[in-house]
Amino acid sequence: MMAWRPLLGAALACIALQACERQAPSTVVIPPRASLPDDTVLRPDATASVTPQAQPAPAVQSPQAAAPVPAPAAPVATAPAPQRDLPAVRNAGDPRGAELLAQRALEVPVVGIAPASLSDHYEQSRGKRKHEAIDILAPMGTPVVAVDDGRIVKLFNSKPGGLTVYQYDPNGQLAYYYAHLQRYADGLKEGADVKRGQVIGYVGVTGNSDPGTPHLHFAVFKLGTPPRWWEGDPVNPYPALSRAAPAQQVAAR
Ligand SMILES: [Zn+2]
Repeated sequence: MMAWRPLLGAALACIALQACERQAPSTVVIPPRASLPDDTVLRPDATASVTPQAQPAPAVQSPQAAAPVPAPAAPVATAPAPQRDLPAVRNAGDPRGAELLAQRALEVPVVGIAPASLSDHYEQSRGKRKHEAIDILAPMGTPVVAVDDGRIVKLFNSKPGGLTVYQYDPNGQLAYYYAHLQRYADGLKEGADVKRGQVIGYVGVTGNSDPGTPHLHFAVFKLGTPPRWWEGDPVNPYPALSRAAPAQQVAAR
């Protein structure tokens, strides 16, 4: 068993992790072999997104990103009590997205992780950018499950994210992003509808992830109109996940 402890471990990992945040695919070099069956479920404009000239704007920082937030990361390392005891999340992200997310009944996306053990990593720095996601540490190969019902819209292999999954919520208003996967669940396909709690992949260290710190990088963003899987306004996943149901144990595959 690895000797990581959720709170301290998470804090250390986030210091160690360089840049595991979602990256707009346009900034990713598509391998010349073009072996990704990428565009099967996408609209024409999505095809354009993987060409260099279409610069999907990276998620715009919400207005309150600069709001009253003095201490970025220190509380995680110093607080002896679980973060859920804090009265409020420091930055909820896009307000409308946060509202929508609060209405979803989610499941923690990693099997065996208690909601109370999660920490708010949303505002931590990753180089010049903010993290805008949560990192959930777990042993390599731990099953990753869908946090919500919805559709798998994109399976994408990116330089920072490694093996990633983009899933929409059932209303097509929110996207859930799972990164650094070791592998996908057998048979997972773009366009497939999944159920909350369904295994979609396994925790790994693909992409720009510290090989010694397997974790799921999980982000949420509010989609635009029409929804495009590669762009949206970031929403802090922590408030919803800290109230989510634990993922059910699943049989090993
Ligand atoms: Zn991360």
